[in-house]
Amino acid sequence: MAAQETVDHKYVYDFSEGNKDLKDLLGGKGANLAEMTNLGLPVPPGFTITTEACQAYLATGREPDGLAGQIEAHLESLERAMGKRLGDPGDPLLVSVRSGARFSMPGMMETVLNVGLNDQSVVGLSAQAGGNDRFAWDSYRRLIQMFGKTVCEVPGEEFEHALDQIKSAKGTHDDLDLDADDLRGLVDAYKKIFLKHTGREFPQQPREQLDLAIRAVFESWNAERAVLYRRQERIPADLGTAVNVVTMVFGNLGPDSGTGVAFTRDPASGAQGIYGDYLANAQGEDVVAGIRNTVPLQELGQLDRASYDELLGIMARLEEHYKDLCDIEFTIERGKLWMLQTRVGKRTAAAAFVIAGQLVDEGLIDLDEALHRVNGAQLAQLMFPRFQLDHEFQPVATGIGASPGAASGTVVFTSARAVELAAEGRSVILVRRETNPDDLNGMIAAKGILTSRGGKTSHAAVVARGMGKTCVSGADEIDVNVPAKRFTVAGQTVQEGDVVSIDGTTGKVYLGEVPVMPSEVVQYFEGSLDPEHIDNALVRAVHRIMTHADGKRRLAVRTNADTGADAARARRFGAEGIGLCRTEHMFLGDRRELVERLILARAPGEREAALAALLPLQRADFEEIFREMDGLPVTVRLIDPPLHEFLPPLEQLAVNVAVAQERGEDVAKEEALLAAVRRMHEENPMLGLRGVRLGLVIPGLFAMQVRAIAEAAVSCARDGGVAKPEIMVPLVGAVQELETVRAEAEKIIAEVVGDSGVEVLIGTMIEVPRAALTAGQIAEAAQFFSFGTNDLTQMGWGFSRDDVEGAFFWRYLELGIFGISPFESIDRDGVGRLVRIAAEEGRAARPGLKLGVCGEHGGDPDSVHFFHEVGLDYVSCSPFRVPVARLEAGRAVVETGGSDSR
Ligand code: ADP
Ligand code: MG
Ligand code: MG
Repeated sequence: MAAQETVDHKYVYDFSEGNKDLKDLLGGKGANLAEMTNLGLPVPPGFTITTEACQAYLATGREPDGLAGQIEAHLESLERAMGKRLGDPGDPLLVSVRSGARFSMPGMMETVLNVGLNDQSVVGLSAQAGGNDRFAWDSYRRLIQMFGKTVCEVPGEEFEHALDQIKSAKGTHDDLDLDADDLRGLVDAYKKIFLKHTGREFPQQPREQLDLAIRAVFESWNAERAVLYRRQERIPADLGTAVNVVTMVFGNLGPDSGTGVAFTRDPASGAQGIYGDYLANAQGEDVVAGIRNTVPLQELGQLDRASYDELLGIMARLEEHYKDLCDIEFTIERGKLWMLQTRVGKRTAAAAFVIAGQLVDEGLIDLDEALHRVNGAQLAQLMFPRFQLDHEFQPVATGIGASPGAASGTVVFTSARAVELAAEGRSVILVRRETNPDDLNGMIAAKGILTSRGGKTSHAAVVARGMGKTCVSGADEIDVNVPAKRFTVAGQTVQEGDVVSIDGTTGKVYLGEVPVMPSEVVQYFEGSLDPEHIDNALVRAVHRIMTHADGKRRLAVRTNADTGADAARARRFGAEGIGLCRTEHMFLGDRRELVERLILARAPGEREAALAALLPLQRADFEEIFREMDGLPVTVRLIDPPLHEFLPPLEQLAVNVAVAQERGEDVAKEEALLAAVRRMHEENPMLGLRGVRLGLVIPGLFAMQVRAIAEAAVSCARDGGVAKPEIMVPLVGAVQELETVRAEAEKIIAEVVGDSGVEVLIGTMIEVPRAALTAGQIAEAAQFFSFGTNDLTQMGWGFSRDDVEGAFFWRYLELGIFGISPFESIDRDGVGRLVRIAAEEGRAARPGLKLGVCGEHGGDPDSVHFFHEVGLDYVSCSPFRVPVARLEAGRAVVETGGSDSR
């Protein structure tokens, strides 16, 4: 036997054998039960069956060899330790059989309590409890109920119905009013339900109960709701769950017993002090199930001072040991405290920062660790506008916070209506059961999107996040009736035209218009809250951790800004320059007319006249931006989009021409425009005449922009400022393109700059795959590279961004082709590889080549880590993402074990 055991793979661990770092093998619950056992805390003895056993069972449909024997051996030693045998008729050992995976999946899998009770041992249990029949029969009926539901798929309502019947026969709502006879009767009723649904009697063999329960926990890994939850939370499907077999302790033995849950700090605000609920005379499930009203944990102090004090001591000990907020489950059995679970607790974004700051103050962790424990997604959440909820607003429904933000607006039920009302300047909330690609226009027009079905990867959620639009999905309390243009919720009817407010962070839905305000964290970044002088734990913690991140990070953070106002805001948010200043907006508004003249120019001199008129306007734009970014680099991208985008759409021109003709007006100009639009029409504008190609085809266009940039820089220098322009040529695929543009630009720069001391760099975007693959050649002509990862993703994958996200990305996410849109977070393997190649080959050809990124990925946490690893010099992102990028750039250093190199 002993020889056999050494050959067997080890599938079962006693609590004394494991520890908290074995979560992969023992699951979170098992690993932490072992850890607490080894800390000497009062944990009921037990053992854990590993996730490997579960994986083997799920792969083959049967228990792996050796498992049965190991369970037997561990059960025997548990029986020896407790001095009782499982289900013994005179003095039964009872156990719970509990699921527990690597990642906590609250409520997704099953637990069976009181395993080992049967018609005989229920009598023994009562005798052992001093003749407490009520307790014994209550435990037995719970076993049949949980076992029936979990192991044999008996519908839970049947049991609840039987319980309700007995209660109403007694004229009570409280299960504490049921006496032993009532509960004995309930056991009979439950057994009949069991027989009816399974075709067999409730199993009386304790070991059979145990084996079936273990198997059911294995199988609960693949229950539909668990599969859905994993998909939403991106938990791998093949991890499996561990199974914990734990000696039962009883909170339902009378008023001196009870059960509770607690947090070592407030998981919502992070405030110090314990938070919890306690329920006397109850078994574990009752607390969460809300069967009876719990009392605040502090009241336990009056009920049972000794247990309360012991509990507080243990909680302090756990915090010190885990160096973090812990949540716990405990039970008191006749004045004796037992710990049933602990883990590092989930918390809100605000609490994450506050707690990290507190733990540093308490000397439990250092600032590097504090930085590691918060993240950019949490910081981004703290920067969204807030509903001002200090008024009378109560949520009417709660769904999934699918895309953060706070949005109020008029309810509409169709895409068409959303577009109509938005065109009138109204804010609308598009409400649907679920959205589909036909809703895209409505989603674009809406301020927010609310659906009653679907999770974090539903069409609505994915598209909304892609558009940065507030979305609450899966608010299933809402009953949407699209044909009738209304929805009902909490007994109220909301018609088209009524106003609702949705919070895409919390998933809460409110009736009426809830006022919004900028978050405190934004006020801090804007400089209107001074962290040293206000009593706000969150702002102080954010300040402290951001300061540390800034000291650690190697990546610089710039911003994408096209106006002086954006540049100023980004600078307050910590931007260290502009990584992308797009020039195309400078051709809009009342300047369109000049662009039209430029495009239509036929006679010699017409084009030059249009460009000459644009020059001073552009120069003024750049001056404003250079002033705001005084002393910091500003990368200006030469005009990128196809010029026909600046002309009116074809259909509109055609109508104008027809109408004017009808009226007998002069249509020469309209006709010329129409002809130009027809001539310039492209099947694939993204791949057409744009970027550097414009500069090569339209004489004088780039030259005018280069001149405007250089003149603006010189003018700033003359006023005592320091402008550091970096001229960026878009869409280069071959070094020859860049060389041609550069030769002309250098001449102009030399002429304008003279001896003013202004230095102008010339570089290129790397956004065409060919550019990445010939980066060595291109670097010969470029003083810097800036990765345009939007286009690089678009051309790397062959995805037309504007079309694909709404059309089919939801399906790709569902199939797991990618876990997140490659436009949201960089595709490390493909697009990322292009970045890596270009960075390496570019630097090999030109040591010290300045490398940055200006796609939207520059503000995405995971992408920032990637850009750090690849060794770029800076990332650039929209002003609001600048703090996120600063934080993540610091975290990237801490997590790769790097040193301060700044
Ligand atoms: P979940 O993961 O859903 O919280 P648990 O396995 O923790 O499920 O168990 C459900 C409830 O039963 C919890 O309240 C837990 O404290 C309680 N419980 C589990 N095992 C025991 C036990 N051996 N004795 C007493 N209560 C238990
Ligand atoms: Mg639990
Ligand atoms: Mg581009």
